Amino acid sequence: MGKLWIVGAGPGAVDLITVRGRELISRADAILYAGSLVSRQHLAFAPPHCEVADSSGMTLETMVAWLGERCRRLATVVRLQTGDPSLYGALTELTTPLRQQDVEMEVVSGVSSAMAAAAAAVESLTLPETTQTVILTRTEGRTPMPERERLRHLAAHGTTLCIFLSATLLDKVTEELFQAGWPPQQPVLVVHKVSWPNEERIIRGNLSNIADLCRHANVTSQAMIITGPALEAASRHDNPVSRLYAAEFSHQFRTAFDPLP
Ligand code: SAH
Repeated sequence: MGKLWIVGAGPGAVDLITVRGRELISRADAILYAGSLVSRQHLAFAPPHCEVADSSGMTLETMVAWLGERCRRLATVVRLQTGDPSLYGALTELTTPLRQQDVEMEVVSGVSSAMAAAAAAVESLTLPETTQTVILTRTEGRTPMPERERLRHLAAHGTTLCIFLSATLLDKVTEELFQAGWPPQQPVLVVHKVSWPNEERIIRGNLSNIADLCRHANVTSQAMIITGPALEAASRHDNPVSRLYAAEFSHQFRTAFDPLP
């Protein structure tokens, strides 16, 4: 019996996978990759004997059967999926039936598109004294949302919001944020196909114009929406600073600077 490795491929760029993920690809006997969101370039690192299949046309049952059968026969089986496997990756749906088949498994974390989008735009999701919390969420599409997680309720906290799976629902997103009392000038960042060579697009706007800007740019899928009070802080000059690097602040790695008397 082999082992199933559920590997986060990162947001798109072939060099944004972890070293561990790349190493597993290079010794995989079989790879089932999510073709709709994972770059095929990852497959160039697989050994010649490796069997490769695209899961984008498969049902969950077919995927489970495909992986289970290979795990019984081969040593290293990789399920390659976008970003980090713990976010909107149907991980539990996949692991539950495979556990019932006694398949041994391990998950390898990946760079989520939320973090990659912040990096692409050189934005911090947290800002001292302004917001120290990030909410990773989505709007309701075909998958229903629990009522207490409606965007207007989450937005009431005034934290950073990273909104997945909602590029086609931007009007709904902005309406929910207005309902929560956010101002029309609130900056919003949308990153389409973050880290994909020649395809990444960074769109900046505010609550009142971002839906139109994205419509005009024809951004309808594979986009990360980020908003919140930490956004565009670099253009403000009155930001509170973290105590971590303050001269008078001692911690485990540095003794406070002692000003001359
Ligand atoms: N597990 C993934 C999310 C999968 S759900 C992760 O951690 O990133 C798919 C959604 O993720 C998309 O609708 C989009 O909102 C976001 N996404 C995935 N890849 C992206 C990319 N390269 N650029 C922008 N958004 C992306």
